[in-house]
Amino acid sequence: MSQPREPVEHGEQPPVVPVPFNTTDPFAMKWTDRAFDLLKNGKMSAHIVTVEGIKAARIDGSCPYCDDQIHLTEPLTAITQGSDGFLGRGIASRDEAELTGSVRFQDVTITCGCNEPHAGDPNKSTGCGTSFRISVSETP
Ligand SMILES: [Zn+2]
Ligand SMILES: [Zn+2]
Repeated sequence: MSQPREPVEHGEQPPVVPVPFNTTDPFAMKWTDRAFDLLKNGKMSAHIVTVEGIKAARIDGSCPYCDDQIHLTEPLTAITQGSDGFLGRGIASRDEAELTGSVRFQDVTITCGCNEPHAGDPNKSTGCGTSFRISVSETP
């Protein structure tokens, strides 16, 4: 499921090697920045969903570090009022939200939960170890 991280020059065909487990900068801001771009480009989606009465951020898309597909449900700790089910798309801008007052954002920290083993993972588990923050929106 891994893809080359750089455009391939014509001629040379480098082998597709899965990126190693991220031990260098798993909490770097650039992953958050890249996740934001993925959201904008539709390569990742973030919604707030309600699972058994508990609000959670539902994340689907490409990991900003390893490009593998991740499908995560991250419970939100800050519970807001109301029992509404669905909610925003996660890509409206904060400015828009502040103007209209109709969208609220929650920042959630996501740790890659892809199903690919990455070399060097100290837990010999799955995921690349990279964490990033994204804003998910909800409408009242
Ligand atoms: Zn990853
Ligand atoms: Zn991965």
